[in-house]
Amino acid sequence: MTYKVAHFINGKTIESKGKTLDIYNPATGSVIGEVALADQTMIDKAVAAAKAAFPAWSATTPLKRARILFKFKALLEKNLDELAKLVTQEHGKTFVDAQGSVQRGIDVVEFVCGIPNLLKGNFSEDVATEMDSYSVRQPLGVCVGITPFNFPVMIPLWMFPMAIACGNTFVLKPSEKDPSCSIRLAELAKEAGVPDGVLNVVQGDKDAVNALLVHPDVKAVSFVGSTPIAEYVFKTATSYGKRVQAFGGAKNHGVVMPDADLDQAADAIVGAAYGSAGERCMAISVVVAVGDKVADELIAKIKPRMEKLKIGEGSKKETDMGPLVTDAHWDRVKSYIDLGEKEGAELVVDGRNFKPKGFEKGFFIGATLFDKVKPEMRVYKEEIFGPVLSIVRVPDLKSALKLVNEHEFGNGTAIFTRDGNAARTFANQVQVGMVGINIPIPVPVAYHSFGGWKRSMFGDIHMHGTEGVQFYTKLKTITQKWFKNKDGADFSMPLH
Ligand code: NAD
Repeated sequence: MTYKVAHFINGKTIESKGKTLDIYNPATGSVIGEVALADQTMIDKAVAAAKAAFPAWSATTPLKRARILFKFKALLEKNLDELAKLVTQEHGKTFVDAQGSVQRGIDVVEFVCGIPNLLKGNFSEDVATEMDSYSVRQPLGVCVGITPFNFPVMIPLWMFPMAIACGNTFVLKPSEKDPSCSIRLAELAKEAGVPDGVLNVVQGDKDAVNALLVHPDVKAVSFVGSTPIAEYVFKTATSYGKRVQAFGGAKNHGVVMPDADLDQAADAIVGAAYGSAGERCMAISVVVAVGDKVADELIAKIKPRMEKLKIGEGSKKETDMGPLVTDAHWDRVKSYIDLGEKEGAELVVDGRNFKPKGFEKGFFIGATLFDKVKPEMRVYKEEIFGPVLSIVRVPDLKSALKLVNEHEFGNGTAIFTRDGNAARTFANQVQVGMVGINIPIPVPVAYHSFGGWKRSMFGDIHMHGTEGVQFYTKLKTITQKWFKNKDGADFSMPLH
């Protein structure tokens, strides 16, 4: 029995008759549903609903908006397992991992419940004689969120709760690969009291994205996905005068120093490289071993840990790693392993022929390890987005820093060391947006902000935390004077 995933516009589920795409269960490889693809008319309908809802919602006091968000948070907590189950069903990641990702989304909702405080402006008395200035942050209007497949709950929750808390209305275009969660989120938001039209969801592919990027009533676009699309979204939407933050791909390096606790480092690396089948933008996909001794010892510790990994269907409690999201992605990851071999990297563990019993048609690939990867190889330079870890050997910290800094991407990185000075030098000099010191996946908490550097992000303002408030609001500064009595016109520049 398959299901249909439709749009959610103006508080109602709306089915469309046009094009559809199949939804797969990645563990079984079978079609479990179909998702509608929005055409121009559907996009216009969603943006019109958001535009119509804006005047009343932006005039709703921040305190009232916060109270609705408190209810939304409680409903998300109540339905956490149901949401996580949906994530596992359509994405394939393990249920425990899915639960964690839903929680990281709820953390942002919790943060934005403090919106009355976050929106507080500032006031300067007596900027000139009997003259005051104050600044306020006001909402932008209709904002759009375009999200990737790998976090179908967490990333939408990093966007729309912040946007609507600030007084904007929203149109979410989730990934067409795992679309069900987005509708459930919209239903829960409505149940919490978010008025119709404030949060709308349109399903779709690139046609839906293109229609949103150029829509005259859209004021801002938040995008998360691969770098070529992030760059395209940024260039297109900014050329149409919109505010854009577009987060792209990654190649995150974990630097292991000779003084590191190698058992701890190996545990951290195996979790960060193979968790969620490597389909995390903060996954460690390159280990930079400082010295051959470190590389050899680390491989001796990582290999047995890889052999112990339980790869299978995500809903089973014992599973450590699930399948890849689609057949097409399986082909892509496999072709990178073929390429690594051709390029001369040493294939230490080969996951290409892995097939779990009973799930032979699922999109599974085993954990894979390459040693002696060189910076000029494509397997080093390009994002694979699968359970493929490369080891690059360097002689010292300086060369490790140079390697990380010369890479096209700058999303996350980590250093494993017991030397405070090495850690400080690394954190200070590395050209990467999010840095971990003995922490493999340094995803900032909700009240800090998330975002990479270089070609991992296009735009200036990071996601959630106080930067999120900045992105979804514009600053207005008012200078006021209240006259006691009329003293006639003054044509000189106002001075203090
Ligand atoms: P993707 O770029 O294929 O898709 C992202 C979104 O863009 C989807 O909603 C999709 O429908 C849309 N899209 C796809 N092709 C398009 C096109 N040609 N024109 C317009 N829109 C298009 O990404 P994905 O495969 O869903 O997600 C994986 C990627 O996302 C990886 O590269 C990963 O690193 C990245 N990612 C980055 C972050 C971050 O914060 N930097 C977080 C999560 C994922």
